[in-house]
Amino acid sequence: MKGICVLGATGSIGVSTLDVVKRHADLYKVIALTANTNIDTLFEQCIEFKPEVAVVVNEQKGAEFKEKIKGTAIASMSVLIGAEALVEVATLTNVDSVMAAIVGAAGLLSALAAAKAGKTVLLANKESLVMSGDIFMQAIKESDAKLLPIDSEHNAIFQCMPAGYVAGQDAPEARRILLTASGGPFRTTPVEELHNVTVDQAVAHPKWSMGRKISVDSATMMNKGLELIEACLLFNMQPEQIQVVIHPQSIIHSMVDYVDGSVLAQMGNPDMRIPIAHAMAWPERFDSGVAPLDIFAVKHMDFEPASLERFPCLRLAIEAIKAGGIMPTVLNAANEIAVEAFLDEKIRFTDIPVIIEKSMAEFSATEADSLEHILDADKQAREQAHSMIKTLLA
Ligand code: NAD
Ligand code: MG
Repeated sequence: MKGICVLGATGSIGVSTLDVVKRHADLYKVIALTANTNIDTLFEQCIEFKPEVAVVVNEQKGAEFKEKIKGTAIASMSVLIGAEALVEVATLTNVDSVMAAIVGAAGLLSALAAAKAGKTVLLANKESLVMSGDIFMQAIKESDAKLLPIDSEHNAIFQCMPAGYVAGQDAPEARRILLTASGGPFRTTPVEELHNVTVDQAVAHPKWSMGRKISVDSATMMNKGLELIEACLLFNMQPEQIQVVIHPQSIIHSMVDYVDGSVLAQMGNPDMRIPIAHAMAWPERFDSGVAPLDIFAVKHMDFEPASLERFPCLRLAIEAIKAGGIMPTVLNAANEIAVEAFLDEKIRFTDIPVIIEKSMAEFSATEADSLEHILDADKQAREQAHSMIKTLLA
């Protein structure tokens, strides 16, 4: 039996993870579940999975949660409140695997703590890797932790890498990665109409059901930009070795191009339980609960290049990884602030890349040599993006 801690249990990835756990109760025992504010979902999950600990980050919701469990079947469960508790549960001795599924920079410290503690890190929270880059990969190496990608593209690439491949290693026989993207909801929308798109349109992804932030990132293709950076780190590649390919059917989840001309692809229905089950069972395999792929229903698959004019966020991400240092951190922080402002209907969809680009222009790519430096860059970039938004609205 392996002990699992699910950080961000109440989100889209968290819920899919627990669906897979439920199918393999003989292999996985839930040790800890965490939520930010959604205590109703957390309560139901705790009743079902009986973890030893539940964490609620939001203080007020945490107090409500403690009241809520009184007199119930989970009354004796330990409840921790606040962000520090995320690190605490991610490093518990009886936790073997940590699903890092918090959205955004809020997931960094707990994911990094799991890496430093030598856990098997199931990494969905791409923002934490984009921010901390080499520091994260170094922590994995030094503690002999296992890093298994959950992001569907990176999980696909991992599956297509040479046998026995370990994340972060060199694989010179793999010369290129073809990183697939659905193209999101605005793949064919006339560019001049993009400034009028609504939040509802932006979060309505054609192929995947996901949290709101990553759905907006998919619409701007910042998601693909963050994934390009993520791929450089996970597979030790240069940005030039990664080709973004728009594949609207989302059946191929990415490909690896080998020096002999062989191209290996991983395919499957677009359902996150597939990469989650792959990582949880690795190096073996088990049932994910996903229906078999109906290849005749797929009929045909299309591939097209991604336009950097249509998707300036992708261009900015490529610029950030090429600049290196703290630039990916700045890009990510400014994006989080801009996306939040768009979701709050304060700015337009097309303002998102403008705010990020202007924020990035205020920074130079100093070396990301310590966590303090990274957290400082993150904080400053958020302030910068906030002030850009203020200027824009003035
Ligand atoms: P979501 O919004 O559905 O869920 C986010 C989770 O994080 C929730 O459990 C929430 O309680 C928690 N959370 C939010 N803010 C927090 C905070 N400040 N402190 C602590 N916890 C907080 O998001 P999601 O779609 O499940 O995505 C989670 C992560 O996985 C993201 O990094 C995303 O990029 C990545 N990812 C998601 C998908 C997908 O299909 N949903 C696919 C690939 C990668
Ligand atoms: Mg992805």
